[in-house]
Amino acid sequence: MSDPRFEPEYVGPDETGTRLVVRWKDGAVSEFTPRFLRLNCRCARCVDEMTGIRTLSPATVPEDVYPLAIRAVGRYALGVTWSDGHDTGIYSYELLRRLGDESSRADSDSPTGNDAAS
Ligand SMILES: [Zn+2]
Repeated sequence: MSDPRFEPEYVGPDETGTRLVVRWKDGAVSEFTPRFLRLNCRCARCVDEMTGIRTLSPATVPEDVYPLAIRAVGRYALGVTWSDGHDTGIYSYELLRRLGDESSRADSDSPTGNDAAS
């Protein structure tokens, strides 16, 4: 019943404090920018439960959104309270693992170019 691919060994900020790191028991590491996770929230306020279509508009999410608090939800998920006031988001470890695999692929071929804005 426990799959090491979906069991985190460590959850927390990376050394620069700008990314959230999940280190899995099978040795893989997933890294997320906070905003990426925020935009991938699957809760009923961000995704239409009937259609599965995301209703959250990225324009309403601040570029510098960050987690105020992260809590374990049972043994299968993380609950995040975000700096934009959103606190109903629950991220199952299975979802986090999948998003981590997706975002590490996206990182390599699509730079966001946000650096110029600062
Ligand atoms: Zn949400």
